[in-house]
Amino acid sequence: MSFEFYMPARLLFGKGKLAELHRHTLPGKKALIVTSSGQSVKKYGYLARVEEQLEKAGVEHVLFNKILPNPVKEHVMEGAALARSGGCDFVVGLGGGSSIDSAKAIAVMAANEGDYWDYISGGSGKGKPVPNAPLPVVAITTTAGTGTEADPWTVTTNGNEKIGFGFDGTFPVLSVIDPELMMTVPPRLTAYQGFDALFHSTEGYVNRTASEMSDLFALKAIELIGKSLAKAVADGSDEQARADVALANTFSGIVESASGCTSEHSMEHAMSAYHPKLEHGAGLIMVSLAYYTFLARSGSCDARMVAMAKALGKADAKEPMDFVSTLAGLQAACGVAELNMSDYGIKQSELAQIAENARATMGGLFQVDPCEIAHQDVIGILEQSYR
Ligand SMILES: [Zn+2]
Repeated sequence: MSFEFYMPARLLFGKGKLAELHRHTLPGKKALIVTSSGQSVKKYGYLARVEEQLEKAGVEHVLFNKILPNPVKEHVMEGAALARSGGCDFVVGLGGGSSIDSAKAIAVMAANEGDYWDYISGGSGKGKPVPNAPLPVVAITTTAGTGTEADPWTVTTNGNEKIGFGFDGTFPVLSVIDPELMMTVPPRLTAYQGFDALFHSTEGYVNRTASEMSDLFALKAIELIGKSLAKAVADGSDEQARADVALANTFSGIVESASGCTSEHSMEHAMSAYHPKLEHGAGLIMVSLAYYTFLARSGSCDARMVAMAKALGKADAKEPMDFVSTLAGLQAACGVAELNMSDYGIKQSELAQIAENARATMGGLFQVDPCEIAHQDVIGILEQSYR
């Protein structure tokens, strides 16, 4: 038994926690608030509430609200330039994973020269070390999906390369996870985001880097998703279900810090790199049954597949394939069993290219799969998932 664990973000978890933000020590005097180009943070008053908290704490703020659902490098560079010209000394990410991920990337580039891709490993990234510490980041999450509030990761797209990045300096210093801010997420997005959270834990659990530490959080997160995701999708005003899914997501972020993702995520990143309208969680759902069937048939992680099936709700699970059938049942219960790649414009003739991109940009995750998944196997998983 051995592990390393580092998760320096202070987590403020629970209903009403946003209202307490001003009482905590904030990491600077002037914040760049990073939010999405969508309307929801304004429409539901979350932005105004965050601004009020900052003002109560005596913190000035500048707004950058251009982040797309699949964030692009151009906006990282633009946000960083605004942080510099505005004299911001920390960054607040407000919204879903895309806004908070972008806040982290902007925090890196606000304190460092050159181009963001200079520091990215994978694809055409130059993989240089980051010389200066990023600005501190405060994360305020309005969705339960990426777990970014409790991990160092940030995902950005540059051309056809969608690549994750992060290091000790990109953990948020403070994260607010207030399930009250998640009540307005529509059912379909609740499902997509909830499955993203689930897969962070399942991938972290079957991962070669899994440890007692990551297992603890992964199994609990899987259990909470099995218990409450379908309820949160069916009735967004169910406070208990929302809180369970929010907790599952934060725990899944801790799993990503303590263990990590596997190549299921590499495949999805490649799909949405070419088709940026594809939501991350939807892409993961599309490949998930074929991916976990491959793992079940490999015989490489039988006991772990059974444990995941039990955690997800099948108390009498005995076979690795029990996880796949329980997962399929949950997808049906959440109304996302019928997703089609073709609806997002993905063509069958592209699948080999997607498989190549997955390995070229996020190849490291294939090293931590519980079994070897060769290029031809990835094509097979994508073909079985295609409709
Ligand atoms: Zn993810």
